[in-house]
Amino acid sequence: MTHFLDESGNIPKEMPKEARELASFLALVVDATTKTMPSILTSTEIRCLKKKCEGLIKSEILGKKDDIHWVCSKCKNEGVISEWQKTKWDNRQNPK
Ligand SMILES: [Zn+2]
Repeated sequence: MTHFLDESGNIPKEMPKEARELASFLALVVDATTKTMPSILTSTEIRCLKKKCEGLIKSEILGKKDDIHWVCSKCKNEGVISEWQKTKWDNRQNPK
């Protein structure tokens, strides 16, 4: 996650459009997932990144490293987000 961000933790404006869309999507997933820190796949209200896919994203926190695993409910789109801790989308109440 952090490699998408500039020094102040924002998504850089000069980023290519596709990369920016991906970064914004990942930020949404981090934001939604860290509010509840689910340990099993849990639905969010985030739309899939793929054009024309109407799936919603499900996410969960993985194991010890706290990586965020997300999958689309309809297509095979999925990924893992690491290094999201202490970004501005980290909503944990009690950071470790
Ligand atoms: Zn999808």
